[in-house]
Amino acid sequence: MQTKNSLPLQSLWEATGGAAQSFPQLQGSESTEVIIIGGGISGLTTAYLLGKAGIAVAVIEARKIGMGTTACSTGNLYELTSTPLSAILSSYGSTTAKRVYQSRARAIDFMEELVFTNGIDCDFKRVPFHYYLEKSSTKGESFLARELAAARVCQFAVKKLKASQNPLPFAVDRLLRIANQGQINPLAYVRGLAKQLPPSVKVYEQSPVLRIDAQGARVFTGEGELSGKIVVMATHIPKGFLTMQIKLAGIREIALAVDTIDEAMPPGIFWGIDHEEYSLRRYSNKEKKHYLVLIGDLHKTGHRTASETPFATFERYLGERFVLGNERYGWAAQSYYSADALPYIGKDSEKLYYMTGFSADGLVFGSLAGMIVSDSILKRKNPWADLYQSERCAMIRSLRAVIQEGFEVSCHFLAGRYLPSKEALADIEVGEGGVINHGCKKLAVYRQGADAYQCVSAVCTHLGCIVRYNPLEKSWDCPCHSSRFDLEGRVIEGPALENLEKRSLERK
Ligand SMILES: Cc1cc2nc3c(=O)[nH]c(=O)nc-3n(C[C@H](O)[C@H](O)[C@H](O)COP(=O)(O)OP(=O)(O)OC[C@H]3O[C@@H](n4cnc5c(N)ncnc54)[C@H](O)[C@@H]3O)c2cc1C
Repeated sequence: MQTKNSLPLQSLWEATGGAAQSFPQLQGSESTEVIIIGGGISGLTTAYLLGKAGIAVAVIEARKIGMGTTACSTGNLYELTSTPLSAILSSYGSTTAKRVYQSRARAIDFMEELVFTNGIDCDFKRVPFHYYLEKSSTKGESFLARELAAARVCQFAVKKLKASQNPLPFAVDRLLRIANQGQINPLAYVRGLAKQLPPSVKVYEQSPVLRIDAQGARVFTGEGELSGKIVVMATHIPKGFLTMQIKLAGIREIALAVDTIDEAMPPGIFWGIDHEEYSLRRYSNKEKKHYLVLIGDLHKTGHRTASETPFATFERYLGERFVLGNERYGWAAQSYYSADALPYIGKDSEKLYYMTGFSADGLVFGSLAGMIVSDSILKRKNPWADLYQSERCAMIRSLRAVIQEGFEVSCHFLAGRYLPSKEALADIEVGEGGVINHGCKKLAVYRQGADAYQCVSAVCTHLGCIVRYNPLEKSWDCPCHSSRFDLEGRVIEGPALENLEKRSLERK
């Protein structure tokens, strides 16, 4: 059990999920029809649907099934998206906005059917979604008014609640409610799905793909290779370089789960719209143990360099509103936001599919991606495929965001590569990291002890930006396209395929 004095980074779902089923590592050469890289919710949903249609599939996962972003999510299933309804409406018009919400509603229904027909034990429940405003403010009130007006245009059933109808145990100024949304334990869901995979689906774990031959539909790991007819990149963001990456921004979020001794927090999804932009839910397990899960503190990957911990702020927020127990689980994870607010799901070339840009809504969008991509591979018509193609006609909507993101990336690239680092070796405290100049190179240095350093190249293997130290997670994060590496330089996540090169302080 974790206590508030020691907070190892681990999600609630991982910490309380028990032992998982194991799958073999890929060894030698294997062949199949469809290769799916990534065993998160998107990859497994695609594999399940293709397997049901009798297609031979190999899912290849770098770590353990579900242990990417899926295991770090909140487990909320909702028809809305993190981009406000009013913004989707003004960008796309009511016909497209309605189709977006219909597609998400269908994906939630599909998940529910899957859970109940297969007996997946993941605490799926239908619950209401709420926006809540704690302190009256012009900004908050006009946001709620905009959402309500947009909901009317989209014929979306959103109800304004009176203060007397507030289900929360603390005072709020006003709330909006949407009935019949959903909640799950996300790790239990994907682990359950993995158990239900049809016999034509093989799963390999602990097998990071290091090279992809998209034209030949082949992928290579350190120990083996897979050949097929089609490759599906279900890696949250595509690996290597695809042009859509310039339309994506990586945003990290912080999460804290705390046990609570009472059931004061009602079931449901609660999104705060005060300045904190918190997402709050309760999770109650089979043993009737109750946890509060709070997510927030959005920041761009590679842009948080201060050592301060956000967990104390989260703890204060919860402690002021609930009676807390002693268990604590803290974690961080990232989402990829597209330039025009909708994900990119579809075909990059004859043999390569992608699914990405889910914002923080990818349990539903990931399931929908599985439905769309499997339909496309099976040559079945999908009613929403056109909405999510990356080449959709949204260039005008994307242009500003793409130019701004591109400008920022260029600045990070040029400043990182060509300006001298401000840090010197002596500035790095024990247990901290920093990027230093070393001859004409930049080194990412972690100080393990007074005279002990762990060094890797600071040049991101994706497109060459200079990584930055992330003190909360002790990792090297790229501010350009959000690749992340551990202290030994191994890829954690993001588009990079190759590890950072090991270096030493002696050799320049
Ligand atoms: C804090 C937080 C809370 C969230 N809460 C919600 C929520 O409540 N509801 C919601 O709908 N969405 C939520 N999301 C978003 C959602 O979690 C993600 O969009 C979704 O889990 C993405 O699923 P995925 O399968 O595409 O990616 P992942 O779950 O990240 O799976 C990708 C897999 O690919 C593997 N992989 C990567 N590279 C390789 C390689 N080279 N070789 C082999 N395998 C590889 C990874 O190990 C990983 O397991 C949240 C996101 C965050 C950050």
